[in-house]
Order: sequence, then structure tokens, then C-alpha cells
Amino acid sequence: MTTVDRPIASYQYLTLDAVRALSCNGCGDCCDSRRTDGYWTWGFLPADQFASGCDGQALIIPLALVDGVWRDRPAREEDAHELSATRFRCSAFRPDAEGGGSCARHDQWRPPVCGEFPVGGDALPKELAEHGEARLQTDAFPRCTWYHMVVVPEGDPRLSPA
Ligand code: SF4
Ligand code: SF4
Repeated sequence: MTTVDRPIASYQYLTLDAVRALSCNGCGDCCDSRRTDGYWTWGFLPADQFASGCDGQALIIPLALVDGVWRDRPAREEDAHELSATRFRCSAFRPDAEGGGSCARHDQWRPPVCGEFPVGGDALPKELAEHGEARLQTDAFPRCTWYHMVVVPEGDPRLSPA
């Protein structure tokens, strides 16, 4: 089957409570840009790369693709911009033999986005209130629990069957 004739996976429409009741399956694909061929990036990255919250060790390591090989690179001033798109690896990510992985800092301090992605935090209910729906930012992760999901209000006619 080619890319052209592969069926497009349909979206599921769920309430905020329903998506928040689901659990991460540990695929690990949101913890390292290399797992999406560089598509998935880190946003705001402070100059110390979160070392101040992680026992002095840099947590998020910027990457550059050099001659087809991902290599660590030093953090740059532009990585700290609010809308930066830094390709990265995480020093706390522990890949497993099954193709998933785990977070070595799961029970310690982590950047807030680690605990909030993709259904926590305030941004999702705000987007839902403003636009009547909120498409989860998971399209890069076909293995994600929340792949191809859209959050809609209670009673919305688009709600997927339970
Ligand atoms: S701190 Fe944990 S959750 Fe956050 S990117 Fe690293 S491995 Fe993933
Ligand atoms: S992509 Fe989804 S399921 Fe996979 S680790 Fe990230 S949040 Fe969990």
C-alpha cells in the first residue's frame, strides 16, 4: 500500500473528562525528536536546560542533524524564545526493548509541559471554551493513547459512541 492510498485514520470526538481519564501508554514518542524524524520539537528552553531543577544536570539536550546523523549541539539564545522549535533528546528518557520508554524523573520535578501533555494544563479547556472544540496535538504520534482525538463539549452531536 502506498502513502497515497493508505486510509486516513478518522478522529474520535470525546469530552474533556473522557480524554483526561485515559492514561499514557509509554510509547515515548513525545520525549525525543528523533522518534518523529525531527518533526516534534521542544518549545521554550531556558539557558540552563532545566539543570537548576534536575540536580545540576541538563535535562533537554538540543540536537542537530549533521550528515544524516543526530548530534548534540550547544543550547543557543534562540532556543529560549517562547516559540522556539528545538529538536531535542531528553537525558531522563529511558528507551526500552519493546520500542517504548519511560521517564526517569516521573516522580521528581519535571518541566510542567511533561506532566501536562497532551491533555493536562489550562490551555485545553481554554481552547475548548473559545472554539467549541480542541484538537489534541498528537498527530505526529500514531502510537499515542490520544492520537487523532478532538475534545468537544458534553452533549456535542459529534461525540463518538462510548
Ligand atoms: S522529563 Fe520525562 S516526560 Fe519530560 S521529556 Fe524527559 S523523559 Fe519525557
Ligand atoms: S506520545 Fe502519548 S502515549 Fe506516547 S509517551 Fe507521549 S503522551 Fe504518552
